[in-house]
Amino acid sequence: MPDWSNYRGVLVYVEQRNGAAKNVSWQLLGAGQKLAAKLDVSLMALVIGDQVEHLAREAICYGADRVFLCEGPELKDYRTRPYSRITLKLIEDVKPEICLFGATATGRDLAGAIATHLPTGLTADTTELDVEPPPSRLLLASRPAFAEKMMATILCKQYRPQMATARAGVFQALPRDPDRKGEIVRIPNPMGEEQIATRVVEFIEQKSGVNLEEAEIIVAGGRGLGGPEPFKMLKELADALGGEVGASRACVDAGWIKHEHQVGQTGCTVRPKLYFAIGISGAVQHTVGMSNSEVIIAINKDPDAPIFQFAHYGIVGDLFKIVPAITAQVRQR
Ligand code: FAD
Repeated sequence: MPDWSNYRGVLVYVEQRNGAAKNVSWQLLGAGQKLAAKLDVSLMALVIGDQVEHLAREAICYGADRVFLCEGPELKDYRTRPYSRITLKLIEDVKPEICLFGATATGRDLAGAIATHLPTGLTADTTELDVEPPPSRLLLASRPAFAEKMMATILCKQYRPQMATARAGVFQALPRDPDRKGEIVRIPNPMGEEQIATRVVEFIEQKSGVNLEEAEIIVAGGRGLGGPEPFKMLKELADALGGEVGASRACVDAGWIKHEHQVGQTGCTVRPKLYFAIGISGAVQHTVGMSNSEVIIAINKDPDAPIFQFAHYGIVGDLFKIVPAITAQVRQR
């Protein structure tokens, strides 16, 4: 077994766009802090961008002990080459034993680019993270496998750092502590604009604007709706509450609603403050994506529906009567 004793600490990549961090970054700091505490090491964060010092301070509020900050106008938008060069250089210098990235489009690209340059592996899309205590210090990175039918725990025994991307909404951020103290270390960008072969011409926002992963309230519908039309009723409730509409895969497969609304193993993992499960039976592939919601309200005509095992509040009855009644009540307030 090689000697990796000079690799210590947990490093979390803080993803941002236009100076706003993705929530998954703070969730990963929450997960990273638990790993760091078990290993008795420090929790580090990396922030890259243009004028993003405020995010370095935020990372400290969310649990980082030391934040590496790389700023410059050429780093305003994410581009693989400069971002991966900065991260690789930091890994070489600081030697973290664990590196965590959000399983977002950017995080997947960045982590993949880094893993191909290092003699190490990458566990993608993890939904559970734990660590074996010293002396093994092995990261236990678990994710659904074999068409999502079982959980696999993947180990990186031979190399360091141990790298993983993790789904948004799975891990819990620590409560933000504005008085928390930490260190910000500025690091240089080794690549000037002239050395970067790619340029971001335009950024086109997704038209639908559905953002379930960041939504605080989700009103989700299932096959019990019987067709696409009743989703309008759910949208009315969602609008009255200032939330988003979600769906089970059964509705997406039936073509009633687009995939971007799907919650579950093959859709989004969500952690809203309030989740309505309406006409959804509660199959494991659905609940794995929403069971971490703060408050779950289930509406189902079947009193034995498995969703009631996850719900904090359950209403047994016909959704076509109950949903409009709730919407009317909400509108009156
Ligand atoms: P059903 O199971 O058919 O439940 C409908 C519910 O509506 C029932 O409980 C019924 O009592 C209730 N109902 C009917 N009429 C009314 C009424 N008028 N009022 C009140 N209640 C009513 N599923 C996901 O959701 N997300 C995923 O990401 C996902 N990934 C999958 C991945 C794999 C590999 C596999 C094999 C499956 C996956 N599934 C996923 C599918 C999952 O197994 C279930 O089939 C699906 O979640 C069922 O959707 P549902 O609850 O809407 O439908």
